Amino acid sequence: MILVINSGSSSVKYELIDVEGPTRHQAGKIERIGEPGSPFPDHAAALEKAAEEVAPHADGLTAVGHRVVHGGAAFTGPVLIDDDVVKQIEEAVPLAPLHNPSNLAGIEVMRRLHPGLPQVAVFDTAFHSTLPPAARTYAIDREVAERAGVRRYGFHGTSTAYVSRVAAEMVGKPDMANVIVLHLGNGASASAVSAGRCVDTSMGMTPLEGLVMGTRSGDVDPGVIFHLIRGGMTPDEVEEMLVHRSGLYGLCGDNDMRTVLDRVAAGDDEAALAYNVYCHRLRKYIGAYTAVLGRVDVIAFTGGVGENSAPVRRKVLSGLAPMGIRLDPTRNSSVRGARLVSADDSAVAVAVVPTDEELEIAIETAAVVARTNSE
Ligand code: ADP
Repeated sequence: MILVINSGSSSVKYELIDVEGPTRHQAGKIERIGEPGSPFPDHAAALEKAAEEVAPHADGLTAVGHRVVHGGAAFTGPVLIDDDVVKQIEEAVPLAPLHNPSNLAGIEVMRRLHPGLPQVAVFDTAFHSTLPPAARTYAIDREVAERAGVRRYGFHGTSTAYVSRVAAEMVGKPDMANVIVLHLGNGASASAVSAGRCVDTSMGMTPLEGLVMGTRSGDVDPGVIFHLIRGGMTPDEVEEMLVHRSGLYGLCGDNDMRTVLDRVAAGDDEAALAYNVYCHRLRKYIGAYTAVLGRVDVIAFTGGVGENSAPVRRKVLSGLAPMGIRLDPTRNSSVRGARLVSADDSAVAVAVVPTDEELEIAIETAAVVARTNSE
């Protein structure tokens, strides 16, 4: 049995998973860590509470699996955590200042509470370590890029690994499918996966590049940033704006797609523009990744928006029949779990696959422990 820990910036999610089966046991989420009035002043307090909650159900606990957002260039897969690994995760903090410190807090507390258990780090960036040089390299001064670690890393890798595998199985090509994964949650990314290997992804050195997100801009001309700084904003102000006050929220004041869609239906122009920009960007990436892959077997939608919003899927894929993409309206509108929503005569299958990052972390953690034990 694996304890999965996702220690984020203001919340800790935990779940006990038996990968045989798989069977899910105790799960929970502690939110608002460090906020005024919260009973949890810091991550240590929240994680101790989580450990207490799972203790009565943790018979046969064999390992702890941790979500770590940024593995930098060092990590291309999940690893058994030791002091060296912790040091390398610390070295990646400048690349993910909002995420890696809280992930490290989770690791530190769990190593203290369960010193005898193997602890494994599973990186959001690792699945993208197969990006070919042409896809991972920014066309900037090489020496500067190398000195500062500037390259594309990609994120949402754990989800993308899981969803691309399930989608490939759904179309009967478990080992050889070409898959476009659209992970549309608060953060959003598109990835092109060929035979289980990621060949392109829309997030870059940070999770700011690519698609329009709930509050993040996605792609902007870098010139915009300098224009704003010369106009009087500080670099921190520009970053804060691009990360927290852009995307759907920046365009219409709402970051929840449900609210945006309600406003569009009520004839709200600002919401309609936000929705159109969001869908236009997605269509561009689908076209781009179709060209990157050459042939697409399945487009897989996941994340809160991708799994639940039939109107977004319909709008994004409308008019793409010349590219072999045809939705089945009834399947698309039905509310069920993992399923194909394309028409029978669609050359490219379209799938909805609820993501399961916790299960994927548990599976990868169990694999690392099994490999270590057999060495
Ligand atoms: P996170 O990226 O934080 O893990 P999720 O993947 O759960 O978040 O996605 C959250 C988003 O999903 C919400 O902000 C909301 O916009 C969207 N969402 C959830 N349900 C629906 C729905 N029925 N229709 C449209 N959007 C939805």
